[in-house]
Amino acid sequence: MNHRFKDCKIIQSTGDPAVHRAGRVLVSPWRIIENGYVRVENNRVVEVGRCASGPHGIDHCIDHGPGVLMPGLVNAHLHLELTALKGAVPFDKGFQAWVAELLVKREALGEGALKDAAGTGIDHLMASGTLGIGEISTLGITRDIAETSGLSGVWFQEMLGSTPGPFDFACDASGELSCSLAGHAPHTSSPDLLTRLKKRATAKQLPFSIHVAESSDESRFLETGRGDWADFLTLRGIDFSSWPLPAVSPVDYLDRLGILDPLTVAVHLLRVDDRDLEILKRKGVKTVVCPRSNLNLHNRLPDIQRLLDRGLTPGLGTDSLASNDSLSMADEMAFVARNYPGISPKEILAMATVHGAAALGLAKRMGTLLPGRAGAFLYLPVEASTTETLLETITGHE
Ligand SMILES: [Zn+2]
Repeated sequence: MNHRFKDCKIIQSTGDPAVHRAGRVLVSPWRIIENGYVRVENNRVVEVGRCASGPHGIDHCIDHGPGVLMPGLVNAHLHLELTALKGAVPFDKGFQAWVAELLVKREALGEGALKDAAGTGIDHLMASGTLGIGEISTLGITRDIAETSGLSGVWFQEMLGSTPGPFDFACDASGELSCSLAGHAPHTSSPDLLTRLKKRATAKQLPFSIHVAESSDESRFLETGRGDWADFLTLRGIDFSSWPLPAVSPVDYLDRLGILDPLTVAVHLLRVDDRDLEILKRKGVKTVVCPRSNLNLHNRLPDIQRLLDRGLTPGLGTDSLASNDSLSMADEMAFVARNYPGISPKEILAMATVHGAAALGLAKRMGTLLPGRAGAFLYLPVEASTTETLLETITGHE
């Protein structure tokens, strides 16, 4: 657990111009200003700088203290509608059994209980410093909660099977949240559904999210056309004979469908090789990893270092509480710090802020405190003797 964000304060713009001052301003993981200020106008950051040089209108300066002003964290992949299932579905019977039990328990809970818990999930997100989300909803029930939450980001309607349902892209009057489409995974949806969803999102210039290369069942099915998943589809009367199988890998399969481009967000990438990473990089695909969920469900971690070495800049997500202990990005950063000692605090914080924002196509709206970004950000009451130790503290290094 990373308790550094326990006492964080969310600074919301009132709409009036304001200047916020603190011991440090973390504009991005690469730029930290000592004795800095952030000037906000019209709900947007318009200027950052050092107080010594004097912000305009310093009279109205709000001094938050010796800690750090920083961008809100971005949870780039989560499923709030599964919040009610925290601890309810055991991991030890394998991934397919986990999915089957999850669906039964989700159904039994009913929409009211799922929505109530999703609302609590949003409270937990904000209390732990997350202000940006990449929320995936299969049932569609978290849309209104997300739209009125004050969070930035993208709410995705996820679809499975073979036929796309109707979808209204118009979203959130405040303009901080976008609404778009997601495919579930390459092996759970027909190629026709995936290409149609992707085309609709692209026509709006919005991101399209999909889980890719997560389970061994997925890889085996796409790489051979056989295995447990093929049997499962056959049992359910789903004819996959026209699907372009076998492919070299899940990434290769999506590439063949024409789905990989800079507006696609590939989530998980637990089973990828250098050839897959080369394709993702060449196509400019955005990436998100969820290491705590992966370890629980698949007893395996994504090779984040290899993604970084290939020039991919993954965002970080928690996935749902059905496969994770918390929705806290502070906890997710601390987990990465503990399990990936070669990845620097700077890079870990980037994954939880600027890379996550970029993965969702929102780097100009959130993820840093550069001019133009949202006027909502964090004050974290932490001090450190150097910027290195500050970054270690924020990311939960022990
Ligand atoms: Zn997911």
